[in-house]
Amino acid sequence: MARYTGALCRVCRRDGEKLFLKGDRCNTEKCSVERRKYPPGQHGQRRGKLSDYGVQLREKQKVKNIYRVLEAQFRKYFEEAAKKKGATGETLLQLLERRLDNVAYRLGFALNRGQARQFVTHGFFMVNGRKVNIPSFLVKPGDVIEVAADKRQHLYIEESLSRAEHRGRPEWLELEAENRKGKVLHLPTRDEIPLPVQEQLIVELYSK
Ligand code: SF4
Repeated sequence: MARYTGALCRVCRRDGEKLFLKGDRCNTEKCSVERRKYPPGQHGQRRGKLSDYGVQLREKQKVKNIYRVLEAQFRKYFEEAAKKKGATGETLLQLLERRLDNVAYRLGFALNRGQARQFVTHGFFMVNGRKVNIPSFLVKPGDVIEVAADKRQHLYIEESLSRAEHRGRPEWLELEAENRKGKVLHLPTRDEIPLPVQEQLIVELYSK
């Protein structure tokens, strides 16, 4: 399974904002975006204004980076969203939110989506009583996601749950922290996806 393995803070600096890819460090003064508010690289401080195309491209890269998916996979999500009824941009975000690694992160079982993906591939989670180790698995309303019995007391899960308190939990998910279990109540609406992105720009980019 291909994935980005470069420096995560560099990704945020390139996008010009905090994407919270690392967990606790993102909320401290050590955050690279806080310390160096310009793009990385030798000419980072000299970059000029972006064209309309550049703005659209940056927005797409930002969402792709937040959910840690590669271009081909992201494109597939877009094509699937475009085939469905409703606003394509919102449906795109909804599909990304439904990924099992994202849901594990949103429930607080991991400090960030990268760690959630690792947990999923290592068999930490069950969906409706069956072990699922595919990060891109899409959950649906009524699905129950729980930490596998042999991982329930895992130190990382305990640590993640306690540190996730300050993040809050979206209303489309329900958590029973003591049972290490969560439930999908309904599909997320745009209001329930706390992302500072203009998804319409991505639709415009791919519609060219
Ligand atoms: Fe991004 Fe977090 Fe690194 Fe800050 S600390 S640049 S938010 S990954």
